[in-house]
Amino acid sequence: MMILLECRVVCGHRWGAIAMTAEQSIVVTGASGLIAKHIIGAFLKRGHTVRGTLRRMDKAEDVRRAVTRLGRDPAELSFVVADLEEDAGWDEAVAGANVVVHTASPFPIAQPTDPDQVIRPARDGTLRVLRAAARANVKRVVLTSSSVAIFYGSGLPIGHVYSEADFTDETRSDLTPYIKSKTIAEKVAWQFIKATPGAPELAVINPAFVQGPALDGDLSTSHELYRLMARGVYPAAPRIRFPVADVRDVAEVHAEAAFNSKAAGRRYLVGEGQLRLYELGRILERELPDLRSKVPKFELPDVAVRTLALFDKRLRTILPELGEQKDYTNARIRTELGVTLRSADEAAKAAVRSLRDLRLI
Ligand code: NDP
Repeated sequence: MMILLECRVVCGHRWGAIAMTAEQSIVVTGASGLIAKHIIGAFLKRGHTVRGTLRRMDKAEDVRRAVTRLGRDPAELSFVVADLEEDAGWDEAVAGANVVVHTASPFPIAQPTDPDQVIRPARDGTLRVLRAAARANVKRVVLTSSSVAIFYGSGLPIGHVYSEADFTDETRSDLTPYIKSKTIAEKVAWQFIKATPGAPELAVINPAFVQGPALDGDLSTSHELYRLMARGVYPAAPRIRFPVADVRDVAEVHAEAAFNSKAAGRRYLVGEGQLRLYELGRILERELPDLRSKVPKFELPDVAVRTLALFDKRLRTILPELGEQKDYTNARIRTELGVTLRSADEAAKAAVRSLRDLRLI
């Protein structure tokens, strides 16, 4: 069935009506983001028509270029303008779609002084997308949450192995606004689905710290970290380690979760292995020896990091991580979705190589 949308949509370089095939129509919110670009590539590869949402239409050309870099033809990609903080645009964005992949959410490298700057768009934006999807009879919404919505529970025993059964306790006082924003947004999504008759099915993807190839200079916080490291901003590394996910695998998991019957009502923790920040520096040095003098030379004691964080807002993001080891299982990705994840080392190496190819480090 073909559905003609008489909305303000850009298709290619042309303003006007756009045709979407209902059987194949996918909407990806926050199309300008790193993860979204890879997700769009994954759906185009599978032969779907994709409509991306953007805050600003002038980012459309960058997304098309990124998709082309992935070897995909952007002819089946169109865009609509919609902001998480405004109602306008969302009904038009999701009209005619049978799957909406909601990735848009603020992911700042420095935490804002006012937590609501990230919490409000994450929470209210998720509800806007879900309400619009319900009005449009969308079959399934795939929400990009985060592993941070899993890893910060309260009262867990030492040695706890994290899984999709765990939820972060957003009332913990040591959490950053970003962690709270992702947790609250995911929780309101589940509540909405439960409380709304006829709501779409929900599948939630909880990626770990995303590595893998950057596609252009509009860097996600994930890649910005390397750029800062390559500039010698971190002569020493805080004692933090994080589970890692390759963005190519994260995209595959989203694409699988869009149609797999097992994925309805499920969460998927996407991560493979862990890397210490210090080890990221070693990988950077190994892949690009010319940056040897720039990368962290040693690990900082936790007390020094806590003191520095009083002056450097960027460091506050990682305070809950200091000295933490998070054991987790990613078994559900393999058993239910059949996706095999790349190693953390491979993901980090691909990130570094892509940034050099783009001449960003
Ligand atoms: P990016 O910063 O590259 O992408 C964020 C996207 O959200 C951009 O498209 C941005 O648009 C959009 N956005 C932000 N605020 C608004 C708003 N008010 N209205 C509309 N769009 C908005 O980050 P990633 O690709 O890394 O992240 C994408 C998603 O994945 C996020 O939900 C993030 O929380 C999640 N995630 C990321 C991880 C990582 O390590 N990178 C790990 C786990 C989850 P614009 O370009 O206009 O700023």
